[in-house]
Amino acid sequence: MNYLRATNLDEATAILARHPEALLLCGSTDAALQLRHAAATATLIDIHALEELKGVSVDDGYMRIGALVTLNELLRSDAVRASLPLLAACAETFGSHQIRNLATVGGNIANASPAADLTAALVALEATVTLASQGGERSVPLEALFCGYKCTKLDHELITAVTVPLQTGDWYYRKAGMRERLNIAKVSIALTHGSDGFRISGASLGSNPVRFRTLETLLDGGVYDDAAIKAALESDADPSGGYRSTKGYRLRVAFNMIKEALSRPEGG
Ligand SMILES: Cc1cc2nc3c(=O)[nH]c(=O)nc-3n(C[C@H](O)[C@H](O)[C@H](O)COP(=O)(O)OP(=O)(O)OC[C@H]3O[C@@H](n4cnc5c(N)ncnc54)[C@H](O)[C@@H]3O)c2cc1C
Repeated sequence: MNYLRATNLDEATAILARHPEALLLCGSTDAALQLRHAAATATLIDIHALEELKGVSVDDGYMRIGALVTLNELLRSDAVRASLPLLAACAETFGSHQIRNLATVGGNIANASPAADLTAALVALEATVTLASQGGERSVPLEALFCGYKCTKLDHELITAVTVPLQTGDWYYRKAGMRERLNIAKVSIALTHGSDGFRISGASLGSNPVRFRTLETLLDGGVYDDAAIKAALESDADPSGGYRSTKGYRLRVAFNMIKEALSRPEGG
């Protein structure tokens, strides 16, 4: 394999332009599996030294989280705990301490797993993602980055950061799985409720992290009826009946979580 180590963003985008099919490496907690199937001639670009992709900062009501920020850095950040408590709650449920030391925000997004629960939480928080290539930078709503199972619209680009409006109002986060720790989400639900209404998303409820727009409209209209909530969930979500759980199970758990969120949200 061809291993290349970029030392800054310009160098990384230049290498990516020369090797458009290269695999980027950060924490490698997902890439390690992809490498099992990679060709012996594959090019790997290690980007974990890129200072431009590190750090958390707050400015004018938004938090910028660098793509290389790890899950443990998120958890240790006072700014994240104070201003994005939903994201901190999600990070607490993520993998194990060892995995959180390596796993990055950008890697979770780029891997585009339907079970990526950090990405799902960022969708409810209406995050925007910034992408860089040799041609320059662009920003897109995170939700618009995905195009189906394990598919992104990254066009030979690196994710450099996510930008997230600071939370106001009530929120809820819950993840269900087989175990307390090292859990791949059977279902997770992230919800915020502020003066501009409900924002709800979930993991393992579709081929990508899902935003529940029908449900949001229903709840914004003051309709809290069980049958209507179930129908809205079914219209927004399309979970696979994969080997981890059936479609019916996932929808039932999601419904129970929504009911819990409505009756017992965390304070804003
Ligand atoms: C034991 C275990 C437990 C886990 N638990 C969880 C969990 O609880 N919740 C969860 O959501 N996930 C979990 N994961 C999955 C994984 O840890 C996360 O998705 C993690 O965030 C990936 O980050 P990484 O830095 O390791 O990415 P890498 O493995 O380095 O990269 C993943 C993919 O993204 C691409 N990529 C990485 N960074 C960028 C970038 N900046 N721009 C463009 N493309 C990029 C890479 O090319 C690769 O295709 C777990 C994995 C393991 C092995």
